[in-house]
Amino acid sequence: MGGVILPGNTIGIFGGGQLGRMIAIAAKRMGYRVVVLDPTPDCPAGQVADDEITAPYTDVAAARDLARRCAVVTAEFENVPAETLEAIEPMVPVRPSSRVLRIAQNRIAEKTFLAEHGFPVPNFRPVRSHEELLRAISEIGCPAVLKTATGGYDGKGQVRIEHPDEAERAWERLGKVDCVLEEFVLLEREVSVIVARNLRGEEVVYPVAENTHANHILDTSVMPARIPPELARRAQELARAIAEALGVVGLLCVEMFVAQDSRLLVNELAPRPHNSGHQTFDAAVTSQFEQLVRAICNLPLGSTELYRPAAIANLLGDLWEGGEPNWAKALELPEVKLHLYGKAEPRPGRKMGHLTATAETPDEALQKVLEARRRLKEQA
Ligand code: AMP
Repeated sequence: MGGVILPGNTIGIFGGGQLGRMIAIAAKRMGYRVVVLDPTPDCPAGQVADDEITAPYTDVAAARDLARRCAVVTAEFENVPAETLEAIEPMVPVRPSSRVLRIAQNRIAEKTFLAEHGFPVPNFRPVRSHEELLRAISEIGCPAVLKTATGGYDGKGQVRIEHPDEAERAWERLGKVDCVLEEFVLLEREVSVIVARNLRGEEVVYPVAENTHANHILDTSVMPARIPPELARRAQELARAIAEALGVVGLLCVEMFVAQDSRLLVNELAPRPHNSGHQTFDAAVTSQFEQLVRAICNLPLGSTELYRPAAIANLLGDLWEGGEPNWAKALELPEVKLHLYGKAEPRPGRKMGHLTATAETPDEALQKVLEARRRLKEQA
């Protein structure tokens, strides 16, 4: 199991969305075969892969079928049931492991792991009962955020609490499921760092990305972040130390808050490629997707150096409201790249693609990518 998985072998991917698609593109480019397991036929990654298995993630027989056909298996998102991965771990290396996914898919487990290892997180308390809710609100104070322990993403499953009286109703709104209550942090900015680790424990760290959100969904990301070098170095070291403590084999994205009181706090862990690393596809010596392939196949890791500063802007389904976006107009800017994920139906809030721009400075890259996205709405 400790050897190198060479090109020609087959990589299995749980999850056939855009992340799986870009992993598949990188893997195919390096000469691997790819099989994707996803509940929806003709999924974005399935369109690129050699084969797709259409089955729910809870289907252990389908997962075993994937395992039999692959030399290594990975997941494009952390909410694949850990039980499914555990069932195939005796058959095939699963990287990152079910243990890592189990921690990352539950906010109580994740924050407890981080706090116990001395990593800085917003002040939080688990909420699993009415008593814990009352104790949490009195100890954390207001404003606070109540978040479901599992299943929340892109701001879903979160309620802000301004006054202790609202706690009860907030918990009811979330269905009285297990939650964490955490302090509401006054944010200076949000950043993230992606780390890659292979089986030999070799590690590389990408430059810090600086992220903005709209309606809780990532809107833009700039790399490198426009922060002092000392803060960037601290963020990178924090991410590296967390990846090591977790023993991740693959990628780990660490989302962080830079608080107005200058604390650097970990918000979330994602043991997979991340939306804030899409810049690396066009702007880095090694993209996060190629890096994942190298890490899980136990190959030497590639350079994380950026050729140029870069920015991405996400393209949500809302953009299609007035008809097909004006792709040609955006691509008149020669340093802009278009990525579309092959999703048939452009629903509002659905990530359909992104644009990347490279430039001399991060500011210029951001301006350029925003200009490109604005052009998509111009009449053809
Ligand atoms: P999450 O799903 O935990 O990543 O939260 C989504 C977004 O909500 C974050 O990217 C922040 O913009 C905001 N947010 C989440 N938790 C907090 C918090 N404790 N304090 C302030 N803003 C938060």
